Amino acid sequence: MDNQGKSGAALSMDSVLVHGATPFDPVTGAISSPIYQNATFRHPGLGESTGFDYTRAINPTRTELEKTLALIEHGRHGLAFATGMGAISAIVKLFKAGDHLIVSEDLYGGTYRLFNEYYAKYGFEFSWVDTSVFERIEENLRPRTKALFIETPSNPMMKVSDIARCAELVHSRGGSLIVDNTFLSPYFQNPLDLGADFVIHSGTKYLSGHNDTLAGFIVHSREDAADELRNIQKSEGASLAPFDSWLLLRGIKTLALRMKRHESNARAIAFRLRGHPKVEKVYYTGFEDHPQYSLSCNQARGHSGMVSFYLKDAADVAVILKKISLILFAESLGGVESLITFPLVQTHGAIPEPMRLAAGVNDRLLRLSAGIEDSGDLIADLEAALG
Ligand SMILES: *Cc1c(COP(=O)(O)O)cnc(C)c1O
Repeated sequence: MDNQGKSGAALSMDSVLVHGATPFDPVTGAISSPIYQNATFRHPGLGESTGFDYTRAINPTRTELEKTLALIEHGRHGLAFATGMGAISAIVKLFKAGDHLIVSEDLYGGTYRLFNEYYAKYGFEFSWVDTSVFERIEENLRPRTKALFIETPSNPMMKVSDIARCAELVHSRGGSLIVDNTFLSPYFQNPLDLGADFVIHSGTKYLSGHNDTLAGFIVHSREDAADELRNIQKSEGASLAPFDSWLLLRGIKTLALRMKRHESNARAIAFRLRGHPKVEKVYYTGFEDHPQYSLSCNQARGHSGMVSFYLKDAADVAVILKKISLILFAESLGGVESLITFPLVQTHGAIPEPMRLAAGVNDRLLRLSAGIEDSGDLIADLEAALG
């Protein structure tokens, strides 16, 4: 199945998202993908197989999801993991001790912890760099630089890195570009189209969309790495369970509607916060004076639902987190419920203080994930909390 309608014309992303890779079960006609809640599969005879054997390696519900991810992220291969960190841990296993990776310095704290506390111990080398400044990447290249791992927009400072330029640079050195596309989702950005080799998602966020399950993805078109990645997934055992795969399939059906609403809510909030007397600065890629606004508009189709802001007074943080009521004080992002986070102690707590401060994550920074509630209600809640 590809994304062609009956007429043969290419379908828009909004339609592809609703129908996925297989719009109905060819045997029963079931419109919702069946959940194959199986650990194992019977073989008809010795040397004969249905193609399915054991769910850690392969499961029909997960396969349907993996095909759908490949379709919407414009890749040939999709792999689904139990969490975003499971996917990131798997992709790094394509490299080996002594290899050097350049990583965005301002990225999800859990990724920093995994690389710095674990992979570094096994001999991997990392440089933490502001990848929104191209020269910083060039300065940090080494003979053994094998990959560039970027998050764009970055988390939580919303810096935008140039995907096409990063791909060109790393390819000229025989390396790979890995893009964590969690913040924009495939609805707003497709890094593979811009030259990236591998796309990562925390499916826990926009793809699932309901703050009710965890998932992670790798999508790519690199035939030379396809068998290896399947083998890593099967060997490590962090593959996504059948029921969770189905929850993701269901979530993805409404991705287009949700992303439009997340975006319009975030925009309304960003502009309102910007003029607020208690707010020092707002970080949002949809501001025309954002330093990488035109790059962001060129490589992405939208600005997503994420807004970060500095308060003038650090003492206001505790007050706001106590007073906020419709918006929930909780980690994570990308779900229908609006969430507010204090990155210093939550998402970025694992990053050492000097690095965190250099990246801008201080005791006055809050990060907001706009949900799909009414924008007027969200703004009223924020204004009441800000006082
Ligand atoms: C949440 C997140 C992750 C980790 O994903 P989990 O599903 O929580 O394991 C990785 N990258 C980004 C950008 C995230 O927001």
